[in-house]
Amino acid sequence: MKVPEFDVAVVGAGPAGSMAAREAASGGASTVILEKSPIVGEPVRCGEFLPSLEEIRRICNITPRLEEIFDLPREVFGAFIERAIAYAPSGKGYEVSFQGHSIWRDRLDQYLAREAVKEGAALWTETPFLGVEGDAIVTSRGLVRAKVVIGADGPHSSVAKAWGFPSVELLFPAISLSVEGSFDPVFEAFFGPLAPGGYAWIVPRKRDANVGLGVRPDLRREPLGTALSRFLTSRGLRSEKRPVGGYIPMSGPIPVTVKNHVLLVGDAAGQVLSTSGGGIFTSMICGYFAGKAASRHVLRKGPLKDYEKWWRRCMGGALERGRRLFQFMASAFEDPQALEEMFRLLGPEGLAATLRCQDLAIGDLLSLERVSPR
Ligand SMILES: Cc1cc2nc3c(=O)[nH]c(=O)nc-3n(C[C@H](O)[C@H](O)[C@H](O)COP(=O)(O)OP(=O)(O)OC[C@H]3O[C@@H](n4cnc5c(N)ncnc54)[C@H](O)[C@@H]3O)c2cc1C
Repeated sequence: MKVPEFDVAVVGAGPAGSMAAREAASGGASTVILEKSPIVGEPVRCGEFLPSLEEIRRICNITPRLEEIFDLPREVFGAFIERAIAYAPSGKGYEVSFQGHSIWRDRLDQYLAREAVKEGAALWTETPFLGVEGDAIVTSRGLVRAKVVIGADGPHSSVAKAWGFPSVELLFPAISLSVEGSFDPVFEAFFGPLAPGGYAWIVPRKRDANVGLGVRPDLRREPLGTALSRFLTSRGLRSEKRPVGGYIPMSGPIPVTVKNHVLLVGDAAGQVLSTSGGGIFTSMICGYFAGKAASRHVLRKGPLKDYEKWWRRCMGGALERGRRLFQFMASAFEDPQALEEMFRLLGPEGLAATLRCQDLAIGDLLSLERVSPR
């Protein structure tokens, strides 16, 4: 039987993969998306918070055409989130100016996949990438050949393993569920022993909220489901829904994201902000660059390394600063008193800067050295 051939094969129909496929296909490359799930976007493993365009502009260094990437339909959005409150372990709340939207993550992923298909990409669901055989990809439907392979298959990327990329070093287990009710349009984040090393969140939509938590693996003392139940009880919340868990890359991007004809993007490449665990918008931006570089390579012999250059220029600074801040603050997260003191020293402005992965003032850094010695 003839092996199907494409210019670009994208593994994974998450935000990174579908964005990459959309750009590759709209650039003229014949493109296929291989997705292991039967339904794109399900199950939802996400807190479902997307920063506003203004916030994304602040976080990125060079803004690509953001509207081109984030032109999303209304059906994707839940509520406009006016501000955030970060609670220190004592329960003291710090109001942080940070805006965004709660979203329906399944609708976002499905919309992005549809856009890729509209541009001409083929979407093969229930088709996991299984490995490599000679110059072909092995899938559950048989072999596929592609001039460029884009690995957008999440934190445990099989594509990364197959081509010997370095793996993401630190993954936080995280879990969340939907809780019905009416909530103020505020992103609440709770720090302390309930979610050691990470935080618990409430992200309100219109008639429900996404409630969840993520923890540092070495500080985890109980199953995440138990911690989430305790968190719900402590907030007077109840849900009949079953929580869904996943992993969040928190150690920053891997050192190399292009090897021969293979690119890695999104969680597979560790492109997540380490100070928040936010990876939806970063993977969409990096996916955009991956798709553009792939189609230019196939049609105009452009270097695939352009992808690495472009995403690092745009997102590399924020991702690296986030990684450094995360490391700098790591020891404070091991002791509730130190964490309390860190919140006090940072205050609302320092907390907002941290969330945006901005450099802290030198005075703040010196004070923090005391509570978070490395
Ligand atoms: C509990 C939780 C809460 C989070 N909350 C937020 C939040 O509120 N805001 C935010 O910005 N980020 C959040 N994140 C992070 C965010 O979800 C990820 O950074 C984002 O999904 C990365 O997108 P991606 O396309 O790289 O990977 P994914 O969304 O993981 O998509 C990967 C796709 O690849 C498919 N796949 C995997 N293996 C294969 C294979 N072998 N063959 C074919 N297909 C395969 C998967 O089925 C999936 O569809 C959260 C993560 C978790 C786990």
